[in-house]
Amino acid sequence: MQTANKKCINPDCGLTFDISTGNYLCTCGYLLDVQYHNLPKRELIDRFYERRDHGGNIYDESGVWRFRDLINFVNIDCEDFTQCASYLVSLDGSEGRLSKPYKMSKVAEYADIDIDSLLLQPEGYNPSGSFKDNGMSTAVTHAKMLKIRNLICASTGNTSASAAMYAANERMSCSVYIPKGEVAPGKLGQAFQFGAHVIEVNGNFDVALFTSLKAARENGGYTVNSVNPFRIEGQKTMIYRVLESLDWSPPDWIFYPGGALGNTASCGKCLMELYKWGWIKKIPRLVVVNSEGANSFYELVNGHFEGKKLSWNNGRPDLIMINRYYEFNDARGKVPKTQATAIQIGRPANIIKALRALDFTNGLVVQVNDREMADGMSIVGLNGFDCEMASGAVPAAVKKLRQEEVIEKDDVVVGILTGRQKDPQLVVNYHLDSNNRFANPPSKA
Ligand SMILES: *Cc1c(COP(=O)(O)O)cnc(C)c1O
Ligand SMILES: [Zn+2]
Repeated sequence: MQTANKKCINPDCGLTFDISTGNYLCTCGYLLDVQYHNLPKRELIDRFYERRDHGGNIYDESGVWRFRDLINFVNIDCEDFTQCASYLVSLDGSEGRLSKPYKMSKVAEYADIDIDSLLLQPEGYNPSGSFKDNGMSTAVTHAKMLKIRNLICASTGNTSASAAMYAANERMSCSVYIPKGEVAPGKLGQAFQFGAHVIEVNGNFDVALFTSLKAARENGGYTVNSVNPFRIEGQKTMIYRVLESLDWSPPDWIFYPGGALGNTASCGKCLMELYKWGWIKKIPRLVVVNSEGANSFYELVNGHFEGKKLSWNNGRPDLIMINRYYEFNDARGKVPKTQATAIQIGRPANIIKALRALDFTNGLVVQVNDREMADGMSIVGLNGFDCEMASGAVPAAVKKLRQEEVIEKDDVVVGILTGRQKDPQLVVNYHLDSNNRFANPPSKA
Protein backbone atom coordinates (compact mmCIF):
# COMPACT_ATOMS: atom_id res chain seq x y z
CA MET A 1 0.00 0.00 0.00
CA GLN A 2 1.23 3.50 -0.84
CA THR A 3 1.83 5.89 2.05
CA ALA A 4 1.79 9.05 -0.06
CA ASN A 5 0.09 10.57 -3.06
CA LYS A 6 -0.05 13.90 -4.87
CA LYS A 7 -2.87 16.28 -4.08
CA CYS A 8 -4.06 19.43 -5.81
CA ILE A 9 -3.62 22.53 -3.60
CA ASN A 10 -6.86 24.10 -4.88
CA PRO A 11 -9.41 23.61 -2.07
CA ASP A 12 -12.24 23.69 -4.62
CA CYS A 13 -10.64 20.73 -6.41
CA GLY A 14 -8.47 18.53 -4.21
CA LEU A 15 -7.92 15.88 -6.90
CA THR A 16 -5.33 13.27 -5.96
CA PHE A 17 -2.85 11.44 -8.18
CA ASP A 18 -0.85 8.29 -7.64
CA ILE A 19 2.71 8.87 -6.47
CA SER A 20 4.04 7.13 -9.58
CA THR A 21 2.55 9.69 -11.99
CA GLY A 22 4.71 12.37 -13.58
CA ASN A 23 2.40 15.40 -13.79
CA TYR A 24 3.23 18.47 -11.71
CA LEU A 25 -0.03 20.27 -12.56
CA CYS A 26 -3.58 19.29 -11.70
CA THR A 27 -6.17 19.23 -14.48
CA CYS A 28 -7.54 22.44 -12.90
CA GLY A 29 -4.19 24.16 -13.45
CA TYR A 30 -3.00 24.38 -9.83
CA LEU A 31 0.24 22.90 -8.53
CA LEU A 32 0.34 19.71 -6.47
CA ASP A 33 1.56 18.80 -3.00
CA VAL A 34 3.02 15.51 -1.91
CA GLN A 35 0.69 14.30 0.81
CA TYR A 36 1.57 11.66 3.42
CA HIS A 37 -1.04 9.46 5.03
CA ASN A 38 0.80 8.40 8.16
CA LEU A 39 1.47 10.49 11.26
CA PRO A 40 5.22 10.41 12.03
CA LYS A 41 6.20 9.69 15.63
CA ARG A 42 7.93 12.45 17.54
CA GLU A 43 10.57 9.97 18.78
CA LEU A 44 12.06 10.22 15.29
CA ILE A 45 13.69 13.45 16.47
CA ASP A 46 16.12 11.35 18.53
CA ARG A 47 16.69 8.99 15.62
CA PHE A 48 17.60 11.91 13.30
CA TYR A 49 20.14 13.09 15.85
CA GLU A 50 21.65 9.62 16.30
CA ARG A 51 22.12 9.28 12.56
CA ARG A 52 24.59 12.18 12.63
CA ASP A 53 26.98 9.56 13.95
CA HIS A 54 26.58 7.87 10.59
CA GLY A 55 29.16 5.10 10.74
CA GLY A 56 29.67 5.25 6.96
CA ASN A 57 25.97 4.99 6.04
CA ILE A 58 25.63 7.70 3.37
CA TYR A 59 21.85 7.99 3.91
CA ASP A 60 22.53 8.92 7.52
CA GLU A 61 25.40 11.21 6.52
CA SER A 62 23.22 13.11 4.02
CA GLY A 63 21.54 16.15 5.54
CA VAL A 64 18.54 15.38 3.35
CA TRP A 65 18.13 11.62 3.75
CA ARG A 66 18.89 11.69 7.48
CA PHE A 67 15.27 12.91 7.67
CA ARG A 68 14.00 10.32 5.16
CA ASP A 69 11.15 9.15 7.39
CA LEU A 70 9.48 12.56 6.84
CA ILE A 71 9.87 12.54 3.05
CA ASN A 72 9.32 8.86 2.43
CA PHE A 73 7.23 9.13 -0.73
CA VAL A 74 9.05 6.08 -2.15
CA ASN A 75 7.64 4.05 0.73
CA ILE A 76 10.72 2.17 1.87
CA ASP A 77 11.75 0.75 5.22
CA CYS A 78 13.94 3.67 6.31
CA GLU A 79 16.12 1.50 8.55
CA ASP A 80 16.94 -0.93 5.74
CA PHE A 81 20.20 0.18 4.10
CA THR A 82 19.69 -2.04 1.05
CA GLN A 83 16.33 -0.44 0.34
CA CYS A 84 17.80 3.04 0.78
CA ALA A 85 20.60 2.16 -1.61
CA SER A 86 18.20 0.84 -4.26
CA TYR A 87 15.85 3.82 -4.28
CA LEU A 88 17.33 7.01 -2.80
CA VAL A 89 19.49 9.27 -4.96
CA SER A 90 22.42 10.79 -3.13
CA LEU A 91 25.77 12.26 -4.10
CA ASP A 92 27.53 9.97 -1.65
CA GLY A 93 25.74 11.53 1.33
CA SER A 94 26.95 15.04 0.63
CA GLU A 95 23.71 16.97 0.06
CA GLY A 96 22.80 19.06 3.11
CA ARG A 97 25.65 17.52 5.09
CA LEU A 98 27.56 20.71 5.92
CA SER A 99 24.78 23.23 5.89
CA LYS A 100 23.48 24.09 9.34
CA PRO A 101 22.93 27.43 11.06
CA TYR A 102 25.98 29.43 12.14
CA LYS A 103 26.30 32.57 14.26
CA MET A 104 27.95 35.40 12.35
CA SER A 105 28.96 38.22 14.67
CA LYS A 106 29.85 40.81 12.02
CA VAL A 107 26.59 40.30 10.16
CA ALA A 108 24.73 40.66 13.46
CA GLU A 109 26.54 43.93 14.20
CA TYR A 110 25.81 45.16 10.70
CA ALA A 111 22.11 44.36 11.01
CA ASP A 112 21.94 45.64 14.60
CA ILE A 113 20.69 42.42 16.10
CA ASP A 114 21.97 40.41 19.08
CA ILE A 115 24.89 38.18 18.12
CA ASP A 116 23.24 35.11 19.63
CA SER A 117 19.91 35.84 17.91
CA LEU A 118 21.02 35.68 14.31
CA LEU A 119 21.62 32.31 12.64
CA LEU A 120 22.61 32.02 9.00
CA GLN A 121 22.64 28.73 7.16
CA PRO A 122 25.08 28.54 4.21
CA GLU A 123 23.41 26.25 1.70
CA GLY A 124 26.28 27.07 -0.65
CA TYR A 125 28.11 24.28 1.19
CA ASN A 126 26.29 21.70 -0.88
CA PRO A 127 28.07 19.57 -3.49
CA SER A 128 26.99 21.72 -6.44
CA GLY A 129 27.15 24.92 -4.39
CA SER A 130 23.53 25.82 -3.69
CA PHE A 131 20.42 24.77 -1.76
CA LYS A 132 19.10 23.24 -4.99
CA ASP A 133 20.83 19.93 -4.13
CA ASN A 134 18.42 19.41 -1.22
CA GLY A 135 15.48 19.22 -3.59
CA MET A 136 17.33 17.74 -6.54
CA SER A 137 18.21 14.57 -4.62
CA THR A 138 14.50 13.96 -3.94
CA ALA A 139 13.29 14.99 -7.41
CA VAL A 140 15.81 12.71 -9.11
CA THR A 141 14.79 9.93 -6.70
CA HIS A 142 11.25 10.34 -8.05
CA ALA A 143 12.50 10.34 -11.66
CA LYS A 144 14.33 7.10 -10.93
CA MET A 145 11.15 5.66 -9.39
CA LEU A 146 9.33 6.49 -12.66
CA LYS A 147 12.26 5.06 -14.68
CA ILE A 148 12.63 8.32 -16.59
CA ARG A 149 16.26 8.93 -17.48
CA ASN A 150 16.24 12.38 -19.11
CA LEU A 151 16.07 15.34 -16.76
CA ILE A 152 15.05 18.75 -18.03
CA CYS A 153 15.00 22.18 -16.46
CA ALA A 154 15.16 25.91 -16.98
CA SER A 155 17.60 27.73 -14.78
CA THR A 156 19.15 30.98 -13.66
CA GLY A 157 22.22 28.76 -13.14
CA ASN A 158 22.07 26.80 -9.90
CA THR A 159 19.23 24.45 -10.81
CA SER A 160 21.10 23.45 -13.96
CA ALA A 161 24.35 22.92 -12.02
CA SER A 162 22.57 20.69 -9.53
CA ALA A 163 20.49 18.76 -12.09
CA ALA A 164 23.54 18.20 -14.29
CA MET A 165 25.59 16.97 -11.32
CA TYR A 166 22.99 14.41 -10.22
CA ALA A 167 22.34 13.36 -13.82
CA ALA A 168 26.05 12.70 -14.34
CA ASN A 169 26.23 10.72 -11.11
CA GLU A 170 23.16 8.64 -11.99
CA ARG A 171 24.19 8.21 -15.66
CA MET A 172 21.07 10.08 -16.75
CA SER A 173 20.91 12.75 -19.44
CA CYS A 174 20.11 16.36 -18.68
CA SER A 175 18.88 19.27 -20.83
CA VAL A 176 19.05 22.77 -19.40
CA TYR A 177 17.36 25.87 -20.80
CA ILE A 178 19.08 29.07 -19.76
CA PRO A 179 18.47 32.76 -20.46
CA LYS A 180 21.31 33.68 -22.81
CA GLY A 181 23.93 35.93 -21.24
CA GLU A 182 22.19 36.03 -17.84
CA VAL A 183 23.87 33.13 -16.04
CA ALA A 184 26.93 33.53 -13.78
CA PRO A 185 29.99 31.96 -15.46
CA GLY A 186 30.65 29.61 -12.55
CA LYS A 187 27.18 28.11 -12.91
CA LEU A 188 27.28 27.84 -16.69
CA GLY A 189 30.70 26.20 -16.43
CA GLN A 190 29.26 23.52 -14.14
CA ALA A 191 26.51 22.65 -16.63
CA PHE A 192 29.15 22.21 -19.34
CA GLN A 193 31.51 20.25 -17.10
CA PHE A 194 28.81 17.84 -15.92
CA GLY A 195 27.93 17.06 -19.52
CA ALA A 196 24.50 18.66 -19.71
CA HIS A 197 22.96 19.64 -23.01
CA VAL A 198 22.80 23.44 -22.67
CA ILE A 199 20.13 25.26 -24.68
CA GLU A 200 20.37 29.05 -24.74
CA VAL A 201 17.06 30.87 -24.87
CA ASN A 202 16.69 34.39 -26.21
CA GLY A 203 14.74 35.89 -23.37
CA ASN A 204 14.67 35.88 -19.59
CA PHE A 205 14.21 32.99 -17.15
CA ASP A 206 10.42 33.11 -17.46
CA VAL A 207 10.72 32.43 -21.20
CA ALA A 208 13.28 29.68 -20.56
CA LEU A 209 10.94 27.97 -18.09
CA PHE A 210 8.04 28.14 -20.53
CA THR A 211 10.25 26.65 -23.26
CA SER A 212 11.60 23.85 -21.08
CA LEU A 213 8.15 22.82 -19.81
CA LYS A 214 6.94 22.63 -23.39
CA ALA A 215 9.96 20.54 -24.40
CA ALA A 216 9.36 18.20 -21.44
CA ARG A 217 5.73 17.69 -22.49
CA GLU A 218 6.68 17.03 -26.10
CA ASN A 219 9.72 14.81 -25.50
CA GLY A 220 8.74 13.10 -22.24
CA GLY A 221 11.51 14.62 -20.11
CA TYR A 222 11.35 14.79 -16.33
CA THR A 223 11.08 18.42 -15.14
CA VAL A 224 13.22 19.20 -12.11
CA ASN A 225 12.25 22.85 -11.61
CA SER A 226 10.57 23.76 -8.33
CA VAL A 227 7.11 23.31 -9.87
CA ASN A 228 7.94 19.66 -9.26
CA PRO A 229 6.47 18.82 -5.83
CA PHE A 230 9.28 16.36 -5.08
CA ARG A 231 11.82 19.23 -5.20
CA ILE A 232 9.76 20.95 -2.54
CA GLU A 233 9.94 17.84 -0.32
CA GLY A 234 13.74 17.74 -0.23
CA GLN A 235 13.98 21.45 0.46
CA LYS A 236 12.00 20.98 3.68
CA THR A 237 15.11 19.39 5.19
CA MET A 238 16.78 22.81 5.34
CA ILE A 239 14.20 23.73 7.96
CA TYR A 240 14.56 20.38 9.74
CA ARG A 241 18.27 21.11 10.14
CA VAL A 242 17.53 24.61 11.42
CA LEU A 243 15.02 23.30 13.95
CA GLU A 244 17.27 20.46 15.06
CA SER A 245 19.98 22.99 15.91
CA LEU A 246 17.41 24.88 18.00
CA ASP A 247 16.21 21.74 19.82
CA TRP A 248 13.03 21.95 17.70
CA SER A 249 12.05 25.25 19.24
CA PRO A 250 11.07 27.48 16.29
CA PRO A 251 12.75 30.84 15.68
CA ASP A 252 10.74 34.07 15.45
CA TRP A 253 11.63 34.70 11.82
CA ILE A 254 12.90 32.81 8.75
CA PHE A 255 14.34 34.76 5.79
CA TYR A 256 14.77 33.59 2.19
CA PRO A 257 15.60 35.42 -1.02
CA GLY A 258 12.63 34.97 -3.36
CA GLY A 259 12.97 33.97 -7.02
CA ALA A 260 10.61 31.29 -8.32
CA LEU A 261 9.47 30.97 -4.67
CA GLY A 262 10.14 27.23 -4.37
CA ASN A 263 11.84 27.77 -1.01
CA THR A 264 8.99 29.89 0.23
CA ALA A 265 6.54 27.18 -0.81
CA SER A 266 8.65 24.47 0.78
CA CYS A 267 9.15 26.28 4.08
CA GLY A 268 5.42 26.94 4.31
CA LYS A 269 4.53 23.30 3.69
CA CYS A 270 7.18 22.12 6.13
CA LEU A 271 5.85 24.33 8.93
CA MET A 272 2.22 23.43 8.17
CA GLU A 273 3.05 19.74 8.53
CA LEU A 274 5.12 20.12 11.71
CA TYR A 275 2.35 22.19 13.26
CA LYS A 276 -0.32 19.69 12.28
CA TRP A 277 1.70 16.84 13.78
CA GLY A 278 2.14 18.84 16.99
CA TRP A 279 5.95 18.89 16.64
CA ILE A 280 6.01 22.70 16.89
CA LYS A 281 3.65 24.94 18.82
CA LYS A 282 4.84 28.29 17.49
CA ILE A 283 4.88 29.32 13.84
CA PRO A 284 7.88 31.43 12.73
CA ARG A 285 7.12 34.40 10.49
CA LEU A 286 8.48 33.99 6.98
CA VAL A 287 10.18 36.91 5.23
CA VAL A 288 10.62 36.70 1.46
CA VAL A 289 13.17 39.11 0.03
CA ASN A 290 12.82 40.29 -3.55
CA SER A 291 15.34 42.31 -5.50
CA GLU A 292 13.98 45.75 -6.46
CA GLY A 293 14.70 44.82 -10.07
CA ALA A 294 12.61 41.62 -9.90
CA ASN A 295 9.88 42.41 -7.42
CA SER A 296 6.63 40.90 -8.73
CA PHE A 297 5.83 39.16 -5.47
CA TYR A 298 6.65 42.27 -3.45
CA GLU A 299 4.45 44.49 -5.60
CA LEU A 300 1.49 42.12 -5.73
CA VAL A 301 1.44 41.21 -2.05
CA ASN A 302 1.89 44.75 -0.80
CA GLY A 303 -0.82 46.30 -2.95
CA HIS A 304 1.43 48.22 -5.34
CA PHE A 305 -0.59 47.02 -8.32
CA GLU A 306 -4.18 48.27 -8.65
CA GLY A 307 -4.07 49.13 -4.94
CA LYS A 308 -5.22 45.65 -3.94
CA LYS A 309 -3.13 43.23 -1.87
CA LEU A 310 -2.83 39.77 -3.36
CA SER A 311 -3.40 37.05 -0.75
CA TRP A 312 -4.06 33.34 -0.39
CA ASN A 313 -7.71 34.09 0.34
CA ASN A 314 -8.48 30.56 1.61
CA GLY A 315 -7.09 28.99 -1.55
CA ARG A 316 -8.90 31.35 -3.91
CA PRO A 317 -6.26 33.99 -4.73
CA ASP A 318 -7.04 36.52 -7.44
CA LEU A 319 -5.40 34.72 -10.35
CA ILE A 320 -6.89 37.14 -12.85
CA MET A 321 -5.13 40.01 -11.11
CA ILE A 322 -1.80 38.16 -11.30
CA ASN A 323 -2.28 37.78 -15.05
CA ARG A 324 -3.23 41.43 -15.45
CA TYR A 325 -0.05 42.37 -13.59
CA TYR A 326 2.12 40.22 -15.87
CA GLU A 327 0.42 41.61 -18.97
CA PHE A 328 0.82 45.14 -17.65
CA ASN A 329 4.55 44.56 -17.24
CA ASP A 330 4.84 43.02 -20.71
CA ALA A 331 2.95 45.95 -22.23
CA ARG A 332 5.29 48.51 -20.71
CA GLY A 333 8.36 46.38 -21.48
CA LYS A 334 9.30 45.81 -17.84
CA VAL A 335 11.67 42.85 -17.65
CA PRO A 336 13.30 41.60 -14.45
CA LYS A 337 16.77 43.13 -14.13
CA THR A 338 19.15 42.70 -11.21
CA GLN A 339 22.78 41.77 -10.65
CA ALA A 340 21.44 39.01 -8.38
CA THR A 341 20.70 36.81 -11.39
CA ALA A 342 19.57 33.85 -9.25
CA ILE A 343 16.43 35.80 -8.39
CA GLN A 344 15.99 37.63 -11.69
CA ILE A 345 12.51 36.21 -12.23
CA GLY A 346 9.33 38.05 -13.20
CA ARG A 347 6.74 35.28 -13.03
CA PRO A 348 7.41 33.17 -9.91
CA ALA A 349 6.07 29.72 -10.74
CA ASN A 350 5.26 28.87 -7.11
CA ILE A 351 3.38 32.07 -6.39
CA ILE A 352 0.19 30.36 -5.18
CA LYS A 353 1.98 28.02 -2.79
CA ALA A 354 4.02 31.02 -1.63
CA LEU A 355 0.83 32.93 -0.85
CA ARG A 356 -0.30 29.97 1.22
CA ALA A 357 3.03 30.06 3.09
CA LEU A 358 2.69 33.79 3.83
CA ASP A 359 -0.85 33.25 5.03
CA PHE A 360 0.09 30.38 7.36
CA THR A 361 3.12 32.16 8.82
CA ASN A 362 1.83 35.75 8.88
CA GLY A 363 4.75 36.42 6.56
CA LEU A 364 6.13 39.51 4.85
CA VAL A 365 7.61 40.35 1.48
CA VAL A 366 10.29 43.05 1.36
CA GLN A 367 12.62 44.32 -1.34
CA VAL A 368 16.27 45.37 -1.36
CA ASN A 369 18.42 46.88 -4.11
CA ASP A 370 21.59 45.59 -5.76
CA ARG A 371 23.87 47.75 -3.62
CA GLU A 372 22.30 46.44 -0.42
CA MET A 373 22.63 42.83 -1.61
CA ALA A 374 26.28 43.36 -2.55
CA ASP A 375 26.95 44.78 0.93
CA GLY A 376 25.04 41.88 2.50
CA MET A 377 27.11 39.38 0.54
CA SER A 378 30.32 41.15 1.55
CA ILE A 379 29.58 41.31 5.28
CA VAL A 380 28.91 37.56 5.19
CA GLY A 381 32.38 37.28 3.64
CA LEU A 382 33.91 39.17 6.54
CA ASN A 383 32.63 36.42 8.80
CA GLY A 384 34.58 33.89 6.76
CA PHE A 385 31.57 32.55 4.87
CA ASP A 386 31.02 32.64 1.19
CA CYS A 387 27.72 33.45 -0.51
CA GLU A 388 26.44 34.93 -3.74
CA MET A 389 24.62 38.18 -4.30
CA ALA A 390 21.07 36.77 -4.15
CA SER A 391 21.89 35.34 -0.72
CA GLY A 392 23.15 38.77 0.32
CA ALA A 393 19.50 39.83 0.18
CA VAL A 394 19.02 38.08 3.52
CA PRO A 395 21.37 40.14 5.74
CA ALA A 396 20.27 43.25 3.83
CA ALA A 397 16.63 42.58 4.67
CA VAL A 398 17.33 41.70 8.31
CA LYS A 399 19.05 45.08 8.62
CA LYS A 400 16.15 46.83 6.94
CA LEU A 401 13.50 45.25 9.18
CA ARG A 402 15.58 46.05 12.27
CA GLN A 403 15.78 49.68 11.17
CA GLU A 404 12.03 49.75 10.65
CA GLU A 405 11.66 48.09 14.08
CA VAL A 406 9.60 45.29 12.62
CA ILE A 407 11.91 42.82 14.36
CA GLU A 408 13.34 43.20 17.85
CA LYS A 409 17.01 43.13 18.70
CA ASP A 410 16.61 39.82 20.55
CA ASP A 411 14.19 38.10 18.17
CA VAL A 412 15.58 34.79 16.95
CA VAL A 413 16.18 35.22 13.23
CA VAL A 414 17.19 32.45 10.83
CA GLY A 415 18.37 33.32 7.33
CA ILE A 416 19.08 30.93 4.50
CA LEU A 417 22.18 31.82 2.46
CA THR A 418 21.06 30.07 -0.67
CA GLY A 419 24.24 29.70 -2.68
CA ARG A 420 28.01 29.90 -2.91
CA GLN A 421 29.76 32.66 -4.87
CA LYS A 422 30.05 31.68 -8.54
CA ASP A 423 30.65 35.08 -10.09
CA PRO A 424 34.11 36.07 -8.87
CA GLN A 425 34.38 39.02 -11.27
CA LEU A 426 31.38 40.64 -9.60
CA VAL A 427 33.16 40.35 -6.25
CA VAL A 428 36.46 41.70 -7.57
CA ASN A 429 34.65 44.68 -9.10
CA TYR A 430 32.95 45.35 -5.78
CA HIS A 431 36.23 45.44 -3.92
CA LEU A 432 38.03 47.57 -6.50
CA ASP A 433 35.45 50.34 -6.12
CA SER A 434 36.26 52.18 -2.92
CA ASN A 435 32.78 53.74 -2.86
CA ASN A 436 31.45 50.37 -1.74
CA ARG A 437 30.87 50.04 1.97
CA PHE A 438 33.02 46.93 2.52
CA ALA A 439 35.44 47.49 -0.38
CA ASN A 440 38.81 45.88 0.29
CA PRO A 441 41.00 47.09 -2.59
CA PRO A 442 44.61 45.99 -2.95
CA SER A 443 47.43 48.41 -2.09
CA LYS A 444 50.46 49.13 -4.27
CA ALA A 445 53.89 47.82 -3.31
C1 LIG B 1 17.40 29.32 -6.98
C2 LIG B 1 18.02 30.33 -6.12
C3 LIG B 1 17.24 31.29 -5.43
C4 LIG B 1 15.76 31.41 -5.62
O1 LIG B 1 15.06 30.43 -4.90
P1 LIG B 1 13.51 30.17 -5.17
O2 LIG B 1 13.21 28.96 -4.38
O3 LIG B 1 13.35 29.97 -6.64
O4 LIG B 1 12.78 31.38 -4.70
C5 LIG B 1 17.88 32.15 -4.58
N1 LIG B 1 19.23 32.12 -4.42
C6 LIG B 1 20.00 31.22 -5.06
C7 LIG B 1 21.47 31.25 -4.85
C8 LIG B 1 19.43 30.31 -5.94
O5 LIG B 1 20.20 29.44 -6.57
ZN1 LIG C 1 -7.02 20.66 -9.07
